[in-house]
Amino acid sequence: MRCRTLALGLGFCLLAGSALCVLWVYAEHWLPFYYVPYYLPCPAIFNMKLQYRGERPFQPVAGSQYPQPKLLEQRPTDLLTLTPWLAPIVSEGTFDPELLQDIYRPLNLTVGLTVFAVGKYTHFVPRFLESAERFFMQGYQVRYYVFTDDPAAIPRVPLGPGRTLGIVPIRKYPRWEEVSVPRMETISQHIAQRAYREVDYLFCVDVDMVFRNHWGPETLGDLVAAIHPSYYASPRQQFPYERRHVSTAFVADGEGDFYYGGAVFGGRVDRVYDFTRGCHMAILADKANGIMAAWQEESHLNRRFISHKPSKVLSPEYLWDDTKPRPPGLKLIRFSSLDKNSRWLRS
Ligand code: UDP
Ligand code: MN
Repeated sequence: MRCRTLALGLGFCLLAGSALCVLWVYAEHWLPFYYVPYYLPCPAIFNMKLQYRGERPFQPVAGSQYPQPKLLEQRPTDLLTLTPWLAPIVSEGTFDPELLQDIYRPLNLTVGLTVFAVGKYTHFVPRFLESAERFFMQGYQVRYYVFTDDPAAIPRVPLGPGRTLGIVPIRKYPRWEEVSVPRMETISQHIAQRAYREVDYLFCVDVDMVFRNHWGPETLGDLVAAIHPSYYASPRQQFPYERRHVSTAFVADGEGDFYYGGAVFGGRVDRVYDFTRGCHMAILADKANGIMAAWQEESHLNRRFISHKPSKVLSPEYLWDDTKPRPPGLKLIRFSSLDKNSRWLRS
């Protein structure tokens, strides 16, 4: 008798347990938000405050439903020129370079450009800098910041007047995936410690790229993103966002404007600080939960650009991949990635 009661009790517990599990799996899909246990192993970041006090950045209402903006919406040869939140989409023919020079030159601006060259990526630096000297912000004061684990390996490229190179030593990370993760952290710390005093605008780009055409003041804006060359014609459901709910980079199917490349972003230095710091916080929260987002920093960058819309969007002219056929709408290529031997680089 006692055995039967025990068996019945056990059976009931098993049944109730399974029912609860099934219920939880279903409920997870319907919960409006997810609790992510959050701890910050890096208290130093709270002590870093920018001196700058400006207007509060504009933040649109997140989570509202609206149709996806399409770069090739009208005719395939005409790119979209304005986002639904009224940010210009910059491409050849949308601006008057001479007028922009007349407006921006008298402002005596200094524009920063950060790149990371860790491990074998130091090989890319000479080509990168030489091309930047030819095309990047000609006629402006430019400060390059090269973050590297091997300062001695960075060759001295002759620079034009008003253009300087700062080599910032950083430690080497054992696995190649990890090197892309601390870029947001390193950039935000670098801005707080140094760059906010030295530059007005800051662009952060990949080093395995070259400038091929003019990149000028048409790119300057509060917060600037560039459309990824692989997804400018894809529906948002196909964007390679982080789709796991547990990640802070999670993006739902109905969300997203453009898929932006992690290889180019920038803006006013204080806005880039807020942006990189926000991404770093989200990355830390994921790390605390043992999660690496699908495309690491790029996933966090894309998540953040959904709730903190860029004030200017660069067309894929500013972030191209030469292995792709150029669509008729793209009149020129200004900055593009080199075909690289990834296995050798990461070995
Ligand atoms: N990077 C680096 N050393 C590495 C891996 C990456 O310096 O071992 C830097 C470098 O600036 C590179 C960027 O991180 O341009 C992003 O990595 P990668 O270009 O390999 O990514 P992909 O563009 O192929 O996604
Ligand atoms: Mn790259």
